[in-house]
Amino acid sequence: MNRKLIAGNWKMNGSLAANDALVKAMLADIGVPAADVALCAPAPYLAQLQSLLTGSPIAWGAQDVSAHDKGAYTGEVSVDMLKDFGCRYCLVGHSERRQYHGETDELVAAKAQRALAGGITPVVCVGETLAERESGDTELVVRRQLAAVIHAVGHCISEIVVAYEPVWAIGTGRTATPEQAQQVHAVLRAQLAAATTHPKRVRILYGGSMNAANAASLLAQPDIDGGLIGGASLKAADFLQIVAAAA
Ligand code: PEP
Repeated sequence: MNRKLIAGNWKMNGSLAANDALVKAMLADIGVPAADVALCAPAPYLAQLQSLLTGSPIAWGAQDVSAHDKGAYTGEVSVDMLKDFGCRYCLVGHSERRQYHGETDELVAAKAQRALAGGITPVVCVGETLAERESGDTELVVRRQLAAVIHAVGHCISEIVVAYEPVWAIGTGRTATPEQAQQVHAVLRAQLAAATTHPKRVRILYGGSMNAANAASLLAQPDIDGGLIGGASLKAADFLQIVAAAA
C-alpha cells in the first residue's frame, strides 16, 4: 500500500505573518506523521516555506508551473526556479486554472511533462463540473484529462501524483461521498494500469471540501491515497487532524 500524501493548497491566501504563524503551529504539533505531508503556497512565499520547513517532515510545492523552460514568458515561473526554492511538488491543472485561465488538457499535460523532466512531482488535478456529472460524463471527462498527461509523459506516468477533484466539491462544503470518490478513483486506477506496469505506485488523492470530519472515511477507500486540501489547510488543527486520519 502507498504511504498516503496529504497536500495543502493555500490558493491565493496568506501573508508573511500569517504563514509564519500557521506553519509554526503545524510544526509544533505534527510529530512524526504517518503520511507524507506537503504545503503548496503562492510563489512569492516559497522562499519563506523553504526557510521554515527545511529539515521538517513537511515538504512544499507550488500551485502552478510554466510549460516553458525559460525566456520571454512574462509572469511565468519555471521549474528550475521552483527547484531553487526546494519545491518537491507542483500542482498542475487545478480546476481554478482550467476555469479562470483557460488551461487546456494539452497545456496541463505539457506542464506536467516539464515538471517531471525538471525533477518536480506534478500533482495533476482532474475532475468534472456539476453539469458534466449530471449529464453522466464524469468518467469521460476525467479519463480525457488524464489521457492527455499519459500521452505527454509516457512511461514516466508512474512518477506523477493524480488528484481527483470534482469541481462541484471544491470550496463548496459539498463533498463527494466516499463511494462516489472511490468509483472515480477506480476508473483512474484502471486507466493508469493500461499505461504503466506500476499503477499502484501512482498516488491518487481526493480533493473537494475534505475536512477533519470526513477525511477518515474518504481515506479508508482502497484507491484513495491521500488528500488535496484547500480551505482546511489554512487552519493548523484541522489540517493536522486530516494528516492523523491518513495514518
Ligand atoms: C482545492 O483547492 O484543491 C480544494 C480541494 O479546496 P477545498 O478543500 O477548499 O474544497
